[in-house]
Amino acid sequence: MRYIYTFGDENCIGGSSHADLLGGKGANLSEMSKIGIPVPPGFTITTDACNYFMKNNHLPENLNIDNAMHHIEKIMDKKFGDAKNPLLVSIRSGAKVSMPGMMETVLNVGITKKSVEGLATISSNPRFAYDSYRRLIMMYADVVMQKNQKYNIRHTLESFMDSYKKDRGYLSDTELNHEDLQFLCSEFKNIIYTKLGVHFPDDPQVQLNNAIKAVFKSWNGERAKHYRKIENIKEGAGTAVNIQGMVFGNMGPGSATGVAFTRNPSTGSNTFYGEWLENAQGEDVVAGIRTPYPLNENSKSIQSNELITLEEKFPKLYKQLNDIKNTLESHYRDMQDIEFTIENERLWMLQTRTGKRTGSAAIKIAFDLIKSGMIDEKEALKRISAKQMNEIMLPSLDIQKEKDEPIIARGLPAGPGGASGQIVFTADDAKSWHAKNKNVILVRNETSPEDIHGMYAAKGILTSRGGMTSHAALVARGWGKCCVVGCIDLMIDLENKSLEINGKIFKEGDWLSLNGTSGNVYGKNLPLITNDIKENPLFEKIMGLSKKYQKLGVRANADTEKDAKIARNLDAKGIGLCRTEHMFFNPDRILSMRKMILSSNVDERQGALDELLPHQQKDFYGILKAMAPYPVTIRLLDPPLHEFLPRTDLQIETMANELNLEKNRVNQIIDDLHETNPMLGHRGCRLAITYPEITRMQARAIFSASKALIDEGINPCPEIMIPLIGTAEEFINQRDIIVSVFSEMDLKLDYKIGTMIEIPRACLIAGEIAKSADFFSFGTNDLTQTTFGYSRDDLGGFIYDYLDNNILPNDPFKSIDIKGVGQLVNMATKAGRNQNPNLKIGICGEHGGDPKSIDFFHDAGLDYVSCSPYRVPIAKLASAHVNIK
Ligand code: PEP
Ligand code: MG
Repeated sequence: MRYIYTFGDENCIGGSSHADLLGGKGANLSEMSKIGIPVPPGFTITTDACNYFMKNNHLPENLNIDNAMHHIEKIMDKKFGDAKNPLLVSIRSGAKVSMPGMMETVLNVGITKKSVEGLATISSNPRFAYDSYRRLIMMYADVVMQKNQKYNIRHTLESFMDSYKKDRGYLSDTELNHEDLQFLCSEFKNIIYTKLGVHFPDDPQVQLNNAIKAVFKSWNGERAKHYRKIENIKEGAGTAVNIQGMVFGNMGPGSATGVAFTRNPSTGSNTFYGEWLENAQGEDVVAGIRTPYPLNENSKSIQSNELITLEEKFPKLYKQLNDIKNTLESHYRDMQDIEFTIENERLWMLQTRTGKRTGSAAIKIAFDLIKSGMIDEKEALKRISAKQMNEIMLPSLDIQKEKDEPIIARGLPAGPGGASGQIVFTADDAKSWHAKNKNVILVRNETSPEDIHGMYAAKGILTSRGGMTSHAALVARGWGKCCVVGCIDLMIDLENKSLEINGKIFKEGDWLSLNGTSGNVYGKNLPLITNDIKENPLFEKIMGLSKKYQKLGVRANADTEKDAKIARNLDAKGIGLCRTEHMFFNPDRILSMRKMILSSNVDERQGALDELLPHQQKDFYGILKAMAPYPVTIRLLDPPLHEFLPRTDLQIETMANELNLEKNRVNQIIDDLHETNPMLGHRGCRLAITYPEITRMQARAIFSASKALIDEGINPCPEIMIPLIGTAEEFINQRDIIVSVFSEMDLKLDYKIGTMIEIPRACLIAGEIAKSADFFSFGTNDLTQTTFGYSRDDLGGFIYDYLDNNILPNDPFKSIDIKGVGQLVNMATKAGRNQNPNLKIGICGEHGGDPKSIDFFHDAGLDYVSCSPYRVPIAKLASAHVNIK
């Protein structure tokens, strides 16, 4: 097995297609070297070697590092460890997928007490030699020698250097002279021995071997692991290690280092953009120790306006860099993020990779590249991720500010975007603070439909319990509202209106910021970046392109006229789920609903339902009209009745008065309706079988609304959906009620009756159900709940343990469990279509807006997915992506 690939001469055999083996950095170093771009010679140790090391705790026996080092020595005409003309090397990590800053790097490896003198003589620059040495000592101590995570050696060394500079009145590192640095090197070594109990190694081979191992180990560092989890990067992939001859940007005034983007990463404009520093090493630019200089006029900012550009200082080298930029862009056909070093007026490229960019930049760059003929439409579509699409639609936290702020807690990223606001603990407070023009974050253990007004008023929602399909998550996503749920680190003290997060107390009115895309929580007011989709002309472009290539239809889940209009505006081709229960919570009808529930006989119940009928009819009219002629799938009442009843003593008393009932009687009914496990209880079609008059009222409301629309010349398209079917008999029972209501009406209407497929038994007998159903819609929230037996509302309490222990690859309520739930979906689809080839099949669970799940639904041959209105564009893009693939 080949573990080492060299680059930097004509024998280079690696290239950008070897990213699996060489990591992104190594593959691109080889590629640049092959196309004639000046790259310092070096070699990459493969990810296979990393995996071998992880497994066996030692490097592979046949790893011939010496040979590879000779390759560098030969080209650079220097010798590793030599006292007179020493070769120094950099040791850098580089996984297949870029994980910026998550793993380790050691620079200047190979300096010893002896060779530092040789370096000083041969460069005629002792300051440079000792500056390189102190950097090596600092990095090596931190990355290789540090054992105890709680004690931070780097921090100790940095503080020592800071106070040394302060004592001498130095403002910048560049003011440290040769003697200062020599002193710092020797003091650093003393501190290391005192604090860590081992000497800094004076043997270059020891430095090299240990640095390689440390970089391999950093694959499993906490930061890297956390990042992989968020980015869904495969665990076993491992990192490659790149060992490269050092070139020095800190060799004096003719030397420099810089980082650049071939296009502007924030706006996407086609302008070369970057920063550089004279007499410095790369880390100085990234760490922000010194204010970097602008690369050119385009790169100037308020802080760097007066500083000299690279173009002005080194016009020839800038031109060379600009030519390399053009070569790289046309070679890779994408925007690149590059690192370069100038050593004594000679330019070297240290890295190129696909540049990270904002959502708007991604779209602009993709369309610009189509225009320039570099890529075609399909490639452009592939380049724009769902995450980027999301970003252009929602306000988000300012990434730069977020980077500098510690994360105080972590929850499930339930509703995307970002939010900053003052903490409130009740829905009523959220509403009243909002009325006073305050931005609030509603913090709850969990939310219930009773909290709707507060959730609506809040900028963001944070809960300690609940999973991705919990109420808060569902509602927040529907509104495009930032929401973090299942954040188990929150300890809410409602009585004192205070919140404890890992020992820190927050009171009502204190500030929090939420990142609904990562689930991170910050204890500060972080600024937001607002992105109004209507102002972004690129939105229409990308949607037009998605439409051209998508096969799977995209509908929206909406249960108000307003949401239906939003969905239509975002080009949803119908409503895949209209949850009618949300309609009963409106203050103008909740009393009638409660009356219905508290009725003691059919007549009383019918009386209450007669009061509800006009409300429902009005709702359906609005929604059907907003969507006509596209279909609207109206699901009949689903949740258990007790959810509609009052909870607090005061509420119960008020209701008893309003309905002219004894308070005891109300309490008794509430007790009677109480269920141990309501999710598996009297809900969905089961409820409608006990009280068929509810179905009758809902069917009448749908048909009456349709009739009114037809009379106006509008063409409504209702699809009536029966929830929680587990037997064909349940379906037939309900279908017959609907058909009989229709036959009582003088109406010509093409309507459909179908069912939710959301419990495993329905999947098992799908063929039988399909005999009498016009359509199926997979309710993957309940199907996941009932297949796994995990409560969809309580998963937040243990999902992290499952993810951390690799028991589940991801939250199955967020991304469909293909192995289990997916198998049921495939089985039901096949059986349903075998029985009824015209059967229309969709999915309306929360998975309908998740790109990975959309891939699966496309492959399963579904007709459409349905998701929250604000996710429609993402679903359309994902649908185009999978079709292209
Ligand atoms: C489902 O179960 O997937 C579904 C869409 O219905 P609900 O979330 O309303 O239970
Ligand atoms: Mg359901």
